[in-house]
Amino acid sequence: MSSSLSFCSGVFNEVSGTSARFRHFGSSKSKPVHPQWGNTIVLCGLSDRILWAVFSTNPNPASELVRSSIETGVVLTFDDGPNNDHTPAILDELASSEVQACFFVVGSHLEGRQPLVERMVAEGHQVGSHGWLHERHSNYTDDQVGSSLAKTSEALQAITGIATELFRPPYGDHDARVAEIARELGQATWLWSVDAQDWEEPGAEEIEHRILDQVQDGAVILLHDGRGDRSQTVAALGPIAASLTQRGFTITGLPEMT
Ligand SMILES: [Zn+2]
Repeated sequence: MSSSLSFCSGVFNEVSGTSARFRHFGSSKSKPVHPQWGNTIVLCGLSDRILWAVFSTNPNPASELVRSSIETGVVLTFDDGPNNDHTPAILDELASSEVQACFFVVGSHLEGRQPLVERMVAEGHQVGSHGWLHERHSNYTDDQVGSSLAKTSEALQAITGIATELFRPPYGDHDARVAEIARELGQATWLWSVDAQDWEEPGAEEIEHRILDQVQDGAVILLHDGRGDRSQTVAALGPIAASLTQRGFTITGLPEMT
């Protein structure tokens, strides 16, 4: 994992909770700092009034590596497939609604289901990686994260001829380390901003209402086409696409990294 670290020295004051003000040596002004993952603060000395410190700053904090919204339009995303029972029906609904979506597929689900991925691409949808196994990647070592992403990407490329630039971690579980490894493999980490929680199977109408209640321009909407009975999601999809269009939203795809 590469990161260029910049080291500075100065003094902290007004330290409270997760924020503080920091004044570089040689500067008369202090500025606010908000330590987060990727920032390392090393305390060098402590007096009753001042914390002396050296700190390093990762130039790619998690917030810049992980995205959950787009600039304009809305994106429909489907996780956990491909699935022989539900993915074809989802594709049918998308085709009849004439809208594009992004499928985040589980690498280990691909064997024997290549035609479903071929159909996704042929019908204009994006295909991203949901990792090789549906496991929490933040629990993985660096090598395990890299292996999961590379293996899935290679399996997808063998089917589609395209190196995917899209990664969604299972359960949305991520940290800056996982996102950085994905970035080094050419994949942007995408979460979501609207969660219909369709896996609760609350009924097709409720799935639609949950989306319409939360949606705004720039939304990335999370739905599922695998790991459970998705017949309610299938039933909700046509009405969702119609309602979004009626409200003036453009249903679009996720931006690629380049
Ligand atoms: Zn998932």
